[in-house]
Amino acid sequence: MRVAIYPGSFDPVTFGHLDIIKRSAAMFDKLIVAVLNNSAKKSLFTVDERVEMIKEVTGNIPNVSADSFDGLTVDYADAVGATVVIRGLRAVTDFEYELQIAQTNRVENPEIDTVFLTTSLKYSYLSSTIVKEFASYGADIGKFVPKEIVPKVLAKYSKES
Ligand code: ADP
Repeated sequence: MRVAIYPGSFDPVTFGHLDIIKRSAAMFDKLIVAVLNNSAKKSLFTVDERVEMIKEVTGNIPNVSADSFDGLTVDYADAVGATVVIRGLRAVTDFEYELQIAQTNRVENPEIDTVFLTTSLKYSYLSSTIVKEFASYGADIGKFVPKEIVPKVLAKYSKES
C-alpha cells in the first residue's frame, strides 16, 4: 500500500491545497493531509480547527484523512508508514526552499521521497496568507477557499474588531 503525506500549515485550507489533495489522492492508495504544529509560526486557526476544516472539505474523497503532527516531517511520515511527502510548487520562489527541505529530508531518511506537484495555473497566485489579508479587509474570499471555510475565516476577523 502506497501511503503519502501532504504536510503544511493549511491556515486555512485553500482551493490551491484542495487541488493538490485531489490530484495526489489519485496517485496513492492513501493520503494523509498533516497539519504541522509549528509554534514558531503565528497562526489564525488552532491546529485542531485546521484539521477539522480539512476533514470537512475532503470528506467526499475516501482515501484522504487529516491529522496533525509535531517535529520532523520525515519522523511523522515514518510513524504513519508513508514513503512519500507531497508538496505543491506555485512559482520559482517556492523552489529554492522546497529543494533544500527535500534534500535535507532525504539525508535524514533516504527511504522517504518528496513528490512535487505544480500548481494548477488558476491557483498559482493563491496562498493562505493572501486569503487572510483579504479577509482582514472583509473582502469576498469565496473564490479562494471552499464555501464551508469562508464564514470561519471571516468570523476570526469580526471577533478581533
Ligand atoms: P507552508 O507549509 O509553507 O506553511 P502551506 O501550508 O500554505 O505552506 O502549504 C502547504 C503546501 O501546499 C506547500 O507545499 C505549498 O507549496 C502548497 N501550496 C499552497 N498553496 C498552493 C497553491 N495555490 N497551489 C499549489 N500548491 C500550493
